[in-house]
Amino acid sequence: MPARYTVFGNPIAHSQSPQIHQLFAAQEGAVIEYTRTLVPDSPNDFQAAVKQFFRHGGQGANVTLPFKQHAYELADQCTARAHDAGAVNTLMRQPDGTLLGDNTDGIGLMRDLNENLRVDLAGKRVLVLGAGGAARGILTPLLDAKPAEVVIANRTFAKAQALARIFVFEVNAQPLSALSDGGFDVIFNATSGSVSGDVPDIPPQAFSGCLLAYDLFYAAQPTAFMQFAARHGAAQTADGLGMLVGQAAAAYQLWRGYTPNIAPVIAALRAKLTA
Ligand code: NDP
Repeated sequence: MPARYTVFGNPIAHSQSPQIHQLFAAQEGAVIEYTRTLVPDSPNDFQAAVKQFFRHGGQGANVTLPFKQHAYELADQCTARAHDAGAVNTLMRQPDGTLLGDNTDGIGLMRDLNENLRVDLAGKRVLVLGAGGAARGILTPLLDAKPAEVVIANRTFAKAQALARIFVFEVNAQPLSALSDGGFDVIFNATSGSVSGDVPDIPPQAFSGCLLAYDLFYAAQPTAFMQFAARHGAAQTADGLGMLVGQAAAAYQLWRGYTPNIAPVIAALRAKLTA
């Protein structure tokens, strides 16, 4: 019987995870089963669905909105980066039957930066827009890359301040309106504004001299954020499709000990997205 994996979420019909993991399995020469599991938006239903999946032979699962924090609470053990993120996007059944929780979003982003975009954050000035789950999830791997400075800015400033307090001495919070001096080498949009085509209310001068403006959201066309950034001086823009594939590759590696090549999978998804 093939090894069984799933992705839990609500909604879930749009999830690319089955296609991504089947492409990884083809690279490995393995046969796997990977399904989507729609769960009612309640912690109890999520817990019941996860327990049932692993009780019936499931070996690993991805977790997406709105359950990443519930998965963090549910896991028996968590990796350090999942603790830092306060959220779990990957669950793995361990030999003793307990569940290990990991968060691969940040290392997925780093793999996209390093392998595809060839951007090294060491010594760079980095700005992260947003202070939600994605922003928190990327901060530890981002800091591991040894940037010169990391600033967080968010529409609700108090949330940026609260997030900066978790990474005390390493991250500074600033209001969006205070970013007009620019000087950032890399700007990440970790807000959910792009979901509805909104650009964070940031002074255009913030993009002056920017090497890369990266939107964690992805779409068939460049997002409004990417277009705004390019118009105001960003030398390069990218969306989060590579991060999506990168985080999936790290989950696959955790489950199966095989490291997939992400470039052809990103290309396949991009072709499907823009077809
Ligand atoms: P959350 O709901 O946890 O956080 C949303 C954040 O966006 C908050 O900081 C919120 O600010 C801010 N925000 C929302 N709307 C606007 C707006 N119109 N203008 C300015 N700020 C706004 O979302 P997540 O952190 O989970 O997700 C953020 C993004 O990251 C999404 O686009 C998601 O698709 C993407 N993502 C991509 C992944 C990938 O693999 N490529 C993985 C995970 C996430 P406030 O605090 O003021 O409400």
